[in-house]
Amino acid sequence: MPATISTADFLPLERWNTHLFTGAWVSGPLPATDVIEPATGERLGAVGNADAATVTASAKAASAAQRDWFAKPYDERAEVLRKAAQIAEQHVESIVEWLVRESGSTRAKATAEARVSIKALHESAGLPSRSQGEVLPSTHGRLSLARRRPLGVIGVISPFNFPLYLAIRAVAPALATGNGVVLKPDPRTAVCGGFVIARIFELAGLPAGLLHVLPGGAQAGAALTSDPNVAMIQFTGSTGAGRKVGEAAGKHLKKVSLELGGKNSLIVLDDADIDLALANATWGVYLHQGQICMATGRLLVQRGIYEQFVQRLVAKAKTLTVGNPATEHVHLGPLINAHQRDHVYQSVQAAQQAGAKLEVGGNYQDLFFEATVLSGVTRDNPVFHEEIFGPVAVVIPFDTDEQAIELANDTDYGLSAAVLSKDVGRALKLGEQLRVGLLHINDQTVNDEVINPFGGVGASGNGTSIGGPANIEEFTQWQWLTLKGDAPAYPL
Ligand code: NAD
Repeated sequence: MPATISTADFLPLERWNTHLFTGAWVSGPLPATDVIEPATGERLGAVGNADAATVTASAKAASAAQRDWFAKPYDERAEVLRKAAQIAEQHVESIVEWLVRESGSTRAKATAEARVSIKALHESAGLPSRSQGEVLPSTHGRLSLARRRPLGVIGVISPFNFPLYLAIRAVAPALATGNGVVLKPDPRTAVCGGFVIARIFELAGLPAGLLHVLPGGAQAGAALTSDPNVAMIQFTGSTGAGRKVGEAAGKHLKKVSLELGGKNSLIVLDDADIDLALANATWGVYLHQGQICMATGRLLVQRGIYEQFVQRLVAKAKTLTVGNPATEHVHLGPLINAHQRDHVYQSVQAAQQAGAKLEVGGNYQDLFFEATVLSGVTRDNPVFHEEIFGPVAVVIPFDTDEQAIELANDTDYGLSAAVLSKDVGRALKLGEQLRVGLLHINDQTVNDEVINPFGGVGASGNGTSIGGPANIEEFTQWQWLTLKGDAPAYPL
């Protein structure tokens, strides 16, 4: 496997190496950051880094370009989004390759991510032609309209785990509804979560200056949240960073959308099909090495089937292979970096010290962490509450449906939950009591179809949603417009 990825027709190294995207590929003001393949430690190139001044200049340029963009006929905007979807289809193999190599995704996960990202482009292409608002009743002779207008420039800050989709799910609808965008991808996945999007839109003919992709760390993120030309921040990432972004955006009176962490329960009732329950649990816990906001962070299993379930989950975990997804067919790839691996390792150690039983796994080599099962986890165990973001099943027994509700709701988070049972009525009754933004009956916790509103409650977000019917609400705002034939003669 070569150290550099050859995607000559799509994203050749010389185009992006050490660069930023501001409508053109330009050198960054700060030293470039190496792009490291987590599975091998190999250097795949380097991305430029934005400083605060770069962010300011980009936000200003995007604001100027946005006025022309929104003035274009709606079908011209739609056409760019349609073209972007076609470009992404044409280059899907290169895109998948980047997701595998730069983010440590298995090929199956990378392919699924590329596909939902293309779907997000297709769906966004339909937004410019949607109704812009409503006609309101008014006094005689006055036309009164409530219409949705773009916000201006949207700052998008995105994470490393589903880097392409979690950025494009905001970039595409924001552009489609007439906004400019400054995207700050996570520095660990700035190519697949940033430059791929820049290149797709560049090839699709998006006017230069409307989309900027500025890799950078918290400094660039902070500059974005305080820039006067940025009207809204759409942030996806950890609750800790989200709180800081929310505070900064609030101070500068920006609209802010926060899609944050989760500690999501999969509840397995005693009448569930045990084979299906295992398949759902394995997917929910271990997909992408557990580095998913919706990952099943708690497996609540009813006492009657608990022992059997744990035994079979352990046997299943032992069959899960871990390795380099670019060269081997494996179930689990590497964790994103040593910091994240150490966090997972320490979480497993702390869980044992607090009384959990390590059934299998718990170890790693390089960034490859074994599929792990912790059983007998109690509410006073830190692993019951904290997001691990690693391939660790946290299994907890319960006796009654009421107990399952209480356990699942014992968290500040409120992103996703799922209930498995042959009795749909019982599962729904239980599910209705769960405090979450995403609820699945007879499925696991990791689900997104692009066309659904996606958002959490509590510490998982700030009451916003993204996707499907939520996008117009998210990326536009109301304007009240009235029209009269003649101005009235007011009596004062
Ligand atoms: P993170 O919060 O460390 O980083 C996310 C992004 O925020 C990165 O681009 C980072 O550079 C930037 N950032 C960090 N501090 C910042 C600051 N002070 N100001 C501005 N920007 C800042 O998160 P991560 O480690 O990349 O991702 C994992 C977390 O994201 C998990 O908690 C996971 O649950 C959450 N997540 C949530 C969703 C969702 O849709 N709810 C989706 C994926 C991941």
